[in-house]
Amino acid sequence: MVDPENTMQLLLALRRNGVTDARTLDAIESIDRGIFVRGTFANRAYDDTPLPIPCGQTISQPSVVGLMTQALEVGPRDKVLEVGTGSGYQAAILARLARRVYTVDRHRSLVREARERFEAIGLTNVTAFTADGSRGLPDQAPFDRILVAAAAEDPPGPLLAQLRIGGIMVVPVGQSDAVQSLIKVVRTEAGYEYDELRSVRFVPLLEGLARE
Ligand code: SAH
Repeated sequence: MVDPENTMQLLLALRRNGVTDARTLDAIESIDRGIFVRGTFANRAYDDTPLPIPCGQTISQPSVVGLMTQALEVGPRDKVLEVGTGSGYQAAILARLARRVYTVDRHRSLVREARERFEAIGLTNVTAFTADGSRGLPDQAPFDRILVAAAAEDPPGPLLAQLRIGGIMVVPVGQSDAVQSLIKVVRTEAGYEYDELRSVRFVPLLEGLARE
């Protein structure tokens, strides 16, 4: 169940920060961030701020989730890959907009918890896997849209290759402990077009699976 008053406050903050696309705002409105933040920080779930989640990771700032979702221009027939499930919040929002969402994380326990949340809120078009997302998800490729929620030094080659022609990828690029740039990549017949959206700060995209 969505907490209406708190979610309204959050939506106002998103609009102030440039999230204006109506479908994106509707999707965010329909997903209660409170379900994805637990423990010490639960009382800040509706603030426009990133928050700690288990395994030393973070749930992204809602306005950044909004801007990335908006930039991805997800349509109702799209098959989407998200790299970096984390809490599952971003994937849940994508699932409201897309036909099918695949989301992967290198932490098994995060994937398990995210699955429980998807089930609890009745999302049936999102599937979470434990996998090294820097390699993409070859079995399900190609994708219409790819959202990377962890920072890479460059857009990973396998992800570029798994993007359909006409497809869009949004990925934070840069050194992990510095300010990174959010990049929008469009795959055309001729190659790839890159556009820098804004500066962001994400946890690093690491190779291989984590131990838990
Ligand atoms: N989208 C999430 C936040 C992601 S935080 C949310 O809405 O809550 C970034 C996540 O990327 C972390 O959970 C981290 O474990 C994961 N990650 C980092 N490198 C990865 C890789 N190579 N493959 C899959 N997941 C990765």
